[in-house]
Amino acid sequence: MTYDRLVCANCASPVSEGRCPVCRASRERLQQEGMFGGLTPAALIALLVALIAVAVLAHEMATA
Ligand SMILES: [Zn+2]
Repeated sequence: MTYDRLVCANCASPVSEGRCPVCRASRERLQQEGMFGGLTPAALIALLVALIAVAVLAHEMATA
């Protein structure tokens, strides 16, 4: 998701320029979202579940 061409509804200038508080808030939010690059909370939970499954399997293999 890019915000380069996103225009602010408050000041009608590009959000990337951060000319008003609304721009800066939107920019910060988008940057935080971009940091995880599509890694949603659901994806994080799925990753956690997969790790637990691997740990359980490894434990069962060790005890079998
Ligand atoms: Zn603005």
